[in-house]
Amino acid sequence: MDRRDFLKVAAFSTLGLGLTCTGTPALARGIPAKAFPGGGPGRCFVLPKNQVVVPLLDLFKIGPGPSSSHTLAPLRIASNFRETVAALPKDVLARAERFEAHLYGSLSATGRGHRTDRAVLAGLLGQKPETCDPKVMDALADEKAVFPTVIGGKAFRIAHSVVVWDAVEHSYPFSNTLVMRLVDAKGAALFEREYYSPGGGFFAWKGQPPAKRGTPRHVFGNMAEFRKLAKDTGKPLHQLMLENEMDILGVGEAEVFKHLDMVLKTMADGVDLGLSETGLLPGPFEMHRKARVLFDKARAMGEADGFMQRVSSYAIAVSEGNAAGRLAVTAPTLGSAGTMPALVYVMQNELKLPRDAMRKGMLAAGLVGLLCKTNASVAGAEVGCQGEIGVASAMAAAMMAYATGADLAATELAATIALEHHLGMSCDPVGGFVLIPCIERNAFGALKAYNAALMAKSEIVEQHWEDLDRVVAAMLETGKALPPQFREMGTAGLGVTMVDC
Ligand code: SF4
Repeated sequence: MDRRDFLKVAAFSTLGLGLTCTGTPALARGIPAKAFPGGGPGRCFVLPKNQVVVPLLDLFKIGPGPSSSHTLAPLRIASNFRETVAALPKDVLARAERFEAHLYGSLSATGRGHRTDRAVLAGLLGQKPETCDPKVMDALADEKAVFPTVIGGKAFRIAHSVVVWDAVEHSYPFSNTLVMRLVDAKGAALFEREYYSPGGGFFAWKGQPPAKRGTPRHVFGNMAEFRKLAKDTGKPLHQLMLENEMDILGVGEAEVFKHLDMVLKTMADGVDLGLSETGLLPGPFEMHRKARVLFDKARAMGEADGFMQRVSSYAIAVSEGNAAGRLAVTAPTLGSAGTMPALVYVMQNELKLPRDAMRKGMLAAGLVGLLCKTNASVAGAEVGCQGEIGVASAMAAAMMAYATGADLAATELAATIALEHHLGMSCDPVGGFVLIPCIERNAFGALKAYNAALMAKSEIVEQHWEDLDRVVAAMLETGKALPPQFREMGTAGLGVTMVDC
C-alpha cells in the first residue's frame, strides 16, 4: 500500500468505517488499524480517564538540588513529619527518643549521590525547600556532627544515624518509599508514616486524606478534552489554565502571576549564577563545570553555532548549579531543571519577550507537564529519563511556541514532537549522581525543544499524525517496559560502562 492509498483508507476509517480495535477508541485523530496490512498491532489507543487537579504551584516547586525525587521530596517529607510530630500528644512526645528514616528502592540505591540523607536531616531540623540555604546542606554532610533541635517542646539530637539505607527491592507500591518513625528508647515505634516520592518533588503518604483544595472550573484529563474545552468556551490556553489555577488554590490572578514570576526569576537567576561559576562540582569524581567555557567560546562562533552553544551553556549552567545543591525549579524535576530555564533565558534576554508572553508560555508548559504527570509519570524511577528530560523538553517546546504566538494546535504539536523524540530514554546516572549523563542531557532537551517549536510553527498541523495524548501513553508503556536497573538505579548502562574494574 503506497502512502496515497494508506491515507485514503485512513481518511475513510477515521469517519468510522472499519475500526477494528476493542475498547473506546480515542476521539482525537489517529491512524485506523484498517490502514495497516493485517489490521495493525491488535490493540489500539484509548484515551485515559483521569482528571488534572494538580495546580501549577505544585508542578513548579523551588528547592535545593540535585534531585526532586531524592532531595527535594525527602526534605519536604521530613519537614512534614517534623510538623506532624510537633502536634502529637505531650505524653507521646515525652517518651520519644529519636527518629528513624528508612529509605527504600532507588532512594536507598542512589540516595547518597543525591544527598537524600542531608535532605532528611534538613527537614527534621526545620528547613523549608524554598529558603534552604545551600550552605546548610553543605554543613549537613558531616557524618559525625550532631544537630540539636526542639520539636513540639521536646529536645532532639539529629545525626546521620537517623538515616537507614534499607532494602532496594521491596514490596511498597512506589519505588521511592521513605518510612519515617518516631521511636522510644527501646526502639519501639511511637508514630510512623509511610511516605512515597513519586517524582517531581511531589510526596504523599499511606492513608493521606484528600487535599483540601478547590475544584477547577474547567474539567479535563487529556489533551483531547482540553482542545474541546478551548473550542467550546472560545477561551485561549492561558486563560483556561489561569482560571483553573485560581480555582484550585482559591487565589486571585495576581497571586498566580506572582508565583509564575518567581519561577521565571529563579530559572533566569540560575543561568546567571551558573555562568559565573567555575571549578569542580561536588561528587567523588572530578567533574569540571563547563557552562562558562561554552558560553565564552560561543562568542567567537558564527550566528547559528553561537546560538546553539549559548542555549547549551544556559541549560548546563542551571544543571551544574543544581548538581551543586543550588536552588532550582522542578520543571518537571530537578534532574531536568536546566532544560526550561535555557529557553526562558533565550525568551527573556535574546528574544526580549514581554512579561505577559513569558507568563503565557509558562502556562502552556504547565499544561503539558500536568498532562504528562497525570497520564504517565515525571519520575526517572518510574519511566526513565523520558519522564524527566523528555517531559522537560516537551514543556519547554510548548512554552517557546506559545510565548512566540503559536495557537493551541501548534503548541500541542511542539510538545508532541519534543516528547516523541525522547521516547525510550533510560535513566542510568553514573554513581547515582545527577552529573553524567544528566547535565548534558538538559542541553539536548533544550535544543530539541527549540527545534520542536520551530518545526511545529512551520508545519501544517493537520498533516501531522501524532498528538500529545498518544505520545504520553507511549511514554508510559515504554517506561513500564524498561528494566528496573534503567530506572534511576545507576546499576546499568552508563552507570556500569563508565566504571573501571
Ligand atoms: S538520567 Fe535523566 S532521569 Fe536519570 S537522574 Fe539523570 S536527568 Fe534524571
